[in-house]
Amino acid sequence: MPTLQAGVSGQNVGDQWNGYPVSGPITSRFGIIDDAHPQPHSGNDVACDAGTLVRAPFAGQVVLVSRFGDGVRWTEIFGNSAVIRGEDGMRCLTAHYQDPPAVTVGQSVQAGDVLGAAGSTGQSTGVHVHIGLSDDSNPNFSKDEDGGVTRLLDAMTHLSPLAPAAPTPTRRGYASELVASAQIVAQMIERDALAIGVDAMLDHVIATVGALKASGGG
Ligand SMILES: [Zn+2]
Repeated sequence: MPTLQAGVSGQNVGDQWNGYPVSGPITSRFGIIDDAHPQPHSGNDVACDAGTLVRAPFAGQVVLVSRFGDGVRWTEIFGNSAVIRGEDGMRCLTAHYQDPPAVTVGQSVQAGDVLGAAGSTGQSTGVHVHIGLSDDSNPNFSKDEDGGVTRLLDAMTHLSPLAPAAPTPTRRGYASELVASAQIVAQMIERDALAIGVDAMLDHVIATVGALKASGGG
């Protein structure tokens, strides 16, 4: 069974999501019916601050990128979003980024690579990341005809504490992360949205520069 790659702690505790693609309280579980989801929820919602970096849960290739306002039905629901596909065919959707994803279709990503920054675009009532999981039998994350989610997977139960630890970042990895962060900061500045999450973003850039320096010539 393919697994999402565990984050720092490698475990989900209660309603707290601690792994990639983002950490935070789970505000809506997979399959649940609530005020925001009159039909069973197709993923897990994780609340976080605007601008929080969203990361690839496993290595793979970017197979879909949506840009809010493109007029596509998918985007009306998921806003700015990205889907990555692992070698085993597992597909992870992360949705509602504040800006278009920092990655492009066809791009290869490693576990932990930055895909974008959390926001609330599309059908969303507050800043969160929607994490959907499917495989090659259902590449478009389709629901059942009656709105059910039997053809989708619950990302939370697929996140195993036994998953291998995130690879030790390489100098090249830090460099690509800096590029992704810089793109996100540039998008924020372009939108004149400096007040939204930019402190967290700059902290991340500073930490990444420090790590890049410390990594020496590796
Ligand atoms: Zn959701």
